Amino acid sequence: MAPLGDNVVVTKIKLEKMLSMKGGKGEASYVNNSQAQAQHARSMLHLLKETLDLVQLNSPEIPFVVADLGCSCGSNTIYMIDVIIKHITKRYEATDYEQPPEFSAFFSDLPSNDFNTLFQLLPPYGGGSMEECLASDSHRSYFAAGVPGSFYRRLFPAKSVDVFYSAFSLHWLSQVPDIVLDKRSTAYNKGRIFIHGANESTATAYKKQFQGDLAGFLRSRSKEMKRGGSMFLVCLGRTSLDPTDQGGAGLLFGTHFQDAWDDLVQEGLITSEKRDNFNIPVYAPSLHDFKEVVEADGSFIINKLDVFRGGSPLVVNQPDDAAEIGRALANSCRSVSGVLVDAHIGDRLSEELFNRVAHRASSQAKELLEQLQFFHIVASLSLA
Ligand code: SAH
Repeated sequence: MAPLGDNVVVTKIKLEKMLSMKGGKGEASYVNNSQAQAQHARSMLHLLKETLDLVQLNSPEIPFVVADLGCSCGSNTIYMIDVIIKHITKRYEATDYEQPPEFSAFFSDLPSNDFNTLFQLLPPYGGGSMEECLASDSHRSYFAAGVPGSFYRRLFPAKSVDVFYSAFSLHWLSQVPDIVLDKRSTAYNKGRIFIHGANESTATAYKKQFQGDLAGFLRSRSKEMKRGGSMFLVCLGRTSLDPTDQGGAGLLFGTHFQDAWDDLVQEGLITSEKRDNFNIPVYAPSLHDFKEVVEADGSFIINKLDVFRGGSPLVVNQPDDAAEIGRALANSCRSVSGVLVDAHIGDRLSEELFNRVAHRASSQAKELLEQLQFFHIVASLSLA
């Protein structure tokens, strides 16, 4: 029976209160569905290191501060923080300073992030010398802390952070634009749950939201960064100029996932209005969209800004196994959007929805493996 009437509209504050990747360690958890992000991040290590080489080293008496924004709960963040600290340590060792400073790492995400799972994955702080600590992978060489809050606002005191890192997070909007949920507006996203293939007004509303959000991000970071600091940002991007062609994100959210929502409507499990009130708050920007904001803000100089082919989000053991590919797509989708879907239609219907995604995706497994490719915007920025 269709649950009628309770049209949940995901407003700004609500989204920031509930958005998170799927916590825990289950089959559809982010921990178990972020190997692709790990691979993509590793393929960009040389670019990250170029950014780290630009950071000004201060006296080792002052702690060196690194922050990962949108860290989530998997091991990716721990790996990257480690890479950053080891690289900076090497740079200190190559200078006249006798020893590196103490390091402080801030893991930041929205309050609903599963910080418990993240903290349990953290190795203990190494008791021995810095050298011993750096040589061992079973200890960490930095003090760790979690920082809950939206990166579209202030998170840290002024001039307190040397390196900001953020991966695969800035394509998440702070909210679905209000007019996209307003039936009277031309931007109302009727029949769709994402902007891929949507009408122009809907796409423009998403683009404006992205640009306003990114501007808030840059404004906040420009206050928080120490002079001489640097920032390395990676987010989903697209190669098309047209925002209604969302590239890999479009395939992930705009095809089998979209069709599965339509299945629920056709089977009378939800109303079409219920579907139309659900929108994925993601925007994969073009290089131009991104650049416009950085330049208009003016607080950062661009060391590097490019779009790279990242690869597929699907990591499968048997590329010939259509059922495995179907499940991989459903899990990939669920690990990032499942929390929002659960909140919108409840756990039981959410289970039904993702079963349909898996089923539909398995019928086009070969095409999915070939066509589902992510592109990433990579930005290296320093204070102007
Ligand atoms: N950086 C990790 C995780 C990426 S998943 C990795 O490389 O694997 C994206 C993360 O961005 C999620 O954990 C999500 O909660 C976070 N996020 C989305 N919007 C955010 C916001 N406004 N402020 C802080 N974190 C946000």
